[in-house]
Amino acid sequence: MLFGKDPRKKVILERAMKQVERMLRELQDEGKDLTRFKLKKFQKTHFSNCTCAQCLEAKRKKDPHLRGILEDGVKFYVGEGGGDE
Ligand SMILES: [Zn+2]
Repeated sequence: MLFGKDPRKKVILERAMKQVERMLRELQDEGKDLTRFKLKKFQKTHFSNCTCAQCLEAKRKKDPHLRGILEDGVKFYVGEGGGDE
C-alpha cells in the first residue's frame, strides 16, 4: 500500500519505466505501429533440480512459485509474432 516507503521497490519501478520509455522510442524509430504495442511479464525460476534454500523450501511446501528467481521482468513486442497465443 505505502509503495513509496520501500526504496528498493521505487528503484525497480524507476528502472522499469526507463526501460519501457527507451523501448518505445526504439520501436517508434524503427517505424513500428505502437498501437499494437504489447507488454508481457515473465519470470524465470531456478531449475527443478536446484538445491538452493529457496528451491528446497518450494519443494517441501510443494509450491513451485516459491522457487528461486533467476530473472524477473517484462518483454515488449509490437503486433504479430512474439506472443504465445
Ligand atoms: Zn534455486
